[in-house]
Amino acid sequence: MAFDLKEYPHRRFNPLTRQWVLVSPHRTQRPWLGQVEKIAGEAQPAYDPACYMCPGNTRAAGARNPDYKTTLVFDNDYPASLPDTPAGDLDVNGLLVARGEAGICRVVCFSPRHDLTIARMSIEELRPVMDLWVEQSRELGSREFINYVQIFENRGAMMGASNPHPHCQIWASASLPDEPAKEQLAQQEYQTTRHSCLLCDYLTLERERGERIIFENQHFTVLIPFWAIWPFETLVVAREHFGSLTELTNDQKVALADALKRLTTRYDHLFEVSFPYSMGFHQRPTDGNPHPEWHLHAHFYPPLLRSATVRKFMVGYEMLGTPQRDITAESAAAGLREMKETS
Ligand SMILES: [Zn+2]
Ligand SMILES: [Zn+2]
Ligand SMILES: [Zn+2]
Repeated sequence: MAFDLKEYPHRRFNPLTRQWVLVSPHRTQRPWLGQVEKIAGEAQPAYDPACYMCPGNTRAAGARNPDYKTTLVFDNDYPASLPDTPAGDLDVNGLLVARGEAGICRVVCFSPRHDLTIARMSIEELRPVMDLWVEQSRELGSREFINYVQIFENRGAMMGASNPHPHCQIWASASLPDEPAKEQLAQQEYQTTRHSCLLCDYLTLERERGERIIFENQHFTVLIPFWAIWPFETLVVAREHFGSLTELTNDQKVALADALKRLTTRYDHLFEVSFPYSMGFHQRPTDGNPHPEWHLHAHFYPPLLRSATVRKFMVGYEMLGTPQRDITAESAAAGLREMKETS
């Protein structure tokens, strides 16, 4: 009997994290009796006097935002980690283990406009955001005690974003966080054993097959990874091999802005709602080693499943067993391929 991924339950392997996902395509017809989310009010004012990110406003700790015209970066007023944390160490029989963690947490506003999103910004407006990501990766990464720079965006109340003002966060840390640590191990071993790059080889395979590719431009390919867990999870992969945002050329910065804008616009059209997601870049650590195994990419993890109000939950079997999805990566990609790229 042929093994039909469209029909039969199966597990798929994520070679980047070495985790499995259970795919149950036969269940996509089952009736939905779960929670229906309320659609959040969409319209936002261009300026909100109560927003701590809008130009000229005062932030929680008392600092006042300048009257900025493009982007703004500032140290998080409630940082998760602090730069001058002592290197403490606790180890009781390998069972009670803790370490001091030094780090820097920043907030980056994409625009002075309170009511925009990446999808609603022009390439010209997004370009300074690319420049800032590059500068911040370089500046924070060059600090002696910083070994990893994590840039991420939580978009929408469903993802816990407390403020609709378009912004992201940068958490730079002394240690390598768990997700990039898993990916580093996989990429290193792949390079050692196959003398090639895991994501370069994966991208070649996906471009030959085409069934999970949503679109691409000259420098980036956007696809639903074979092993995606979230219904409309995507991977934005650099088409050339390089490991860090700091290596982006001017052309690649424009292409990245183009890819992010086109992807988020397609997302918005999928359920005709400003699409919530968590996204972030994975790039090589800044520990002073060259890390030729690293291939720059971004992950988008949107929670929505079937409509603007029906989200996927990671509960039950997913907390206790392994992540599971019904709609296949291939049909999710087909859905996003049909979406418009204009608002
Ligand atoms: Zn604002
Ligand atoms: Zn590569
Ligand atoms: Zn990654």
